[in-house]
Amino acid sequence: MTQLPLRAQLATALGRTAATLSRVTGRGDGSVIGGRVSLVLEPDLLRKLAHDRKLALVSATNGKTTTTRLITSALSELGDVATNAFGANMPAGHVSALSSAKHAPYGVLEVDEKYLPEVIDTTGAGVICLMNLSRDQMDRAGEIWLLAQKWRRALAGKNTHVIANADDPLVAWGASTAASVTWVSAGQPWKEDSWCCPECGGPLDRKGMEYVPPGSVGAGAPSKAGENDWACRECTFRRPEPSWILDDDAVIDPRGQRWVLDIQLPGRANRANAAIALATAEVFGLPVERALPRLREVRSVAGRYTTVERDGRHARLLLAKNPAGWLEAFDVLDSSLPVILSVNAQGPDGRDTSWLWDVDYRVLRGRPVFVAGERRLDLALRLDVADVPFQLAGSFEQALAAQPPGKVDVIANYTAFQQIRSEFGRAV
Ligand SMILES: [Zn+2]
Repeated sequence: MTQLPLRAQLATALGRTAATLSRVTGRGDGSVIGGRVSLVLEPDLLRKLAHDRKLALVSATNGKTTTTRLITSALSELGDVATNAFGANMPAGHVSALSSAKHAPYGVLEVDEKYLPEVIDTTGAGVICLMNLSRDQMDRAGEIWLLAQKWRRALAGKNTHVIANADDPLVAWGASTAASVTWVSAGQPWKEDSWCCPECGGPLDRKGMEYVPPGSVGAGAPSKAGENDWACRECTFRRPEPSWILDDDAVIDPRGQRWVLDIQLPGRANRANAAIALATAEVFGLPVERALPRLREVRSVAGRYTTVERDGRHARLLLAKNPAGWLEAFDVLDSSLPVILSVNAQGPDGRDTSWLWDVDYRVLRGRPVFVAGERRLDLALRLDVADVPFQLAGSFEQALAAQPPGKVDVIANYTAFQQIRSEFGRAV
């Protein structure tokens, strides 16, 4: 790689100092503050750091941290990879990620959906992965249709290759202005945000599925392979033909070869993330037989799917931040185990938790359910309406202590998840 200009070198060095200070004073991992300091000194730093690298940007409502990790793991087969492993997914975090691996020829960056157009423009990334869009952080996130429209404008006219989930109509629409797209059938269990055509507003028809009102039996049922097709009833917009297909526990590549994924990360959503990662690796010239073993090495991502232990209770931690995420978390639950649900409503969670009413909790019937977190009363009322028996706990700690020794699953939203991780120390 070419040497950075002096001013950019100084900006990255001071940014690293700020990050170190932040770490040693216990204020976090420092990647955001370090990046901010660097950007104040050299506003054009991200462009300079991105220059000369082969970059992939990863954006979606759900799964971007995990998919970033999977792609990073795959590309490490080719050489050093710079990445924002702590999920600092705005430009300051990108500066920090790239400046801490200055000589890495590859970069894989998780990008907040709203910042994607800006980061595409600044970095000139050659590869962009787009997986799903659904309602999230209702009090501060923009309308997702507007997000997709901004993606369209950002991608139009760029020399960029997009890897996109063809099964999510809004993502397909958002990606369809790109010059070249690899379409992946990665599934879309959560359909409540895409019953209308993004192009004309008409109703979307789905193969093997008629509209089922939320809350009635069958709503939100996961699609089986081959049942993901959709088309607008009123205009020509329809699902693009996918070249990669997630087929239950396997991926079918563009040559028709079926690869059993057999990854360590649990659940359908992670198999979808792996399908996107394999299609992305191939764009970088890495064949499935070399990429897939790297995906299998990934066991947990930023604490997700890890287990914490206290007094013989082994709690497996699942993070779910919005209705689509809860649906995917239910898919991972062990039906023979009790489950603790913990919901907070702090800044990073979004203060408005009305989305709790959008989730169909009936799958939880028949197992012991414990409810904790700041918004436990809201969640309790919702479970009561759904006829799901539960026990209210004053805290996660009390909920865990109420379990018999053995395994328990935990679904928590963002700050609830982080609290459990920090209070229960090192994951085992
Ligand atoms: Zn239409």
